[in-house]
Amino acid sequence: MIGCRNPIQQPFSSIHYAMNELDVIKNPNSILRKVSEPISEADLLSAKTQSLIDNMIETMKVENGVGLAAPQVGEHLRIIIAETNEGPRAFINPKIISKSEKIVSGEEGCLSVPGVYGIVKRHKKVKIKAKNRQGEPVRMSAGGLLSVIFQHEIDHLDGILFIDKAEKIIKGESASAI
Ligand SMILES: [Zn+2]
Repeated sequence: MIGCRNPIQQPFSSIHYAMNELDVIKNPNSILRKVSEPISEADLLSAKTQSLIDNMIETMKVENGVGLAAPQVGEHLRIIIAETNEGPRAFINPKIISKSEKIVSGEEGCLSVPGVYGIVKRHKKVKIKAKNRQGEPVRMSAGGLLSVIFQHEIDHLDGILFIDKAEKIIKGESASAI
């Protein structure tokens, strides 16, 4: 019937948890310099961690970022979000298992270092090993922006910021904040 809506088709049901934007920690702050801990499968599957992942994805979208690491929202867990061609995805305990010898220089910015961008040298391609948010093993080869996102976000998990590696620091907004 036109004008009548089936209640089960309503976009927000009572079991749908609201996603919340989290505060992104800004440099300088010692929270950004601490090394993050690997997360166990049991902790990954907990409601608390699943909600953290949802909120990180929401925060990245609202802030127009293409990547986000858990320490940027104050959680010292090895969780990153990366914008992939299938949309934002979480990678848990990510590790670079191989990298190209070829190095490329590109512009980077960071949601934790607003108003600054820099030229950073990165491996052109990387292959990572991680778990997805369901705890299943994933391997992914990346080139282009995704390769940079992985290297930048995994650095965050080790307390490293792009400004530590940048050859040239420029004030202004970057095209892509990660
Ligand atoms: Zn960053």
